[in-house]
Amino acid sequence: MLLLSEGYCRDTGHHVWRGSVSLENERLMRREGKLYSLDREGGRSVYGESILDIDGISWREWIPWRSKLGALFTKRPDIRLPRRGDVLYLGAAQGTTVSHLSDILIEGAIYGVEFSRAPFIKLADLSRRRDNVVPILEDAFHPERFRAIVPPVELLYQDVAQKEQLELFLLNCGLFLKPGGIGVLMLKARSVDVTASPRDIFEKVGGGLSERGFEILETVDLSPYQVDHLAFIVRRPRQ
Ligand code: SAM
Repeated sequence: MLLLSEGYCRDTGHHVWRGSVSLENERLMRREGKLYSLDREGGRSVYGESILDIDGISWREWIPWRSKLGALFTKRPDIRLPRRGDVLYLGAAQGTTVSHLSDILIEGAIYGVEFSRAPFIKLADLSRRRDNVVPILEDAFHPERFRAIVPPVELLYQDVAQKEQLELFLLNCGLFLKPGGIGVLMLKARSVDVTASPRDIFEKVGGGLSERGFEILETVDLSPYQVDHLAFIVRRPRQ
């Protein structure tokens, strides 16, 4: 199937023009300074984002102010994350970012863990409309409770805005992330310690990841979209 639109192709890194890219490779697009994901639901807004229709194909605006992953891709279009294989997502909330990940994932499922009931209801709704979203109502600090459901994953994504973000990330990576797999830790400095400087917290967390053998591939400051947030993109050692 050919995609009849123009945009930035994340898989080849080239700007692409009408009719030139296969749909499987092109699920993310930039147009007039905005980021879009290819709508898996065919024209349905999930959180109030705008929908762009190009030749009968629907694209959902990925708003960087609403999604840290959207902020990461907006700031750094060169960054690639695994898009074939399963994903464990800690802190799925109502599924804003999960919905975009679901759009761009080529193969596999997103296992979204959320412990708060109100957002989980919306996440569960989303999963009824999307066959690659598996909602899990659990505390991510107790991975033994969802261990039987979640397979080893290619990508572990965490956005929990909690004090012990590093500990939670290490715990779950140890259990679920395949050797050589990619982890994305969206670190909110203020949640770790409101009194410390964000820079000190980022350094400490970076040190903790390295100590545990993770290779830090990138760190990206998500401002102005998300203030005092740093995205760590790491690789688990192959061992
Ligand atoms: N990642 C979401 C997005 O971009 O659409 C936003 C996540 S919000 C910043 C953080 C979420 O993590 C909240 O919904 C909160 O309830 C959830 N959370 C915090 N600690 C958790 C835990 N231990 N287990 C599961 N969910 C947790």
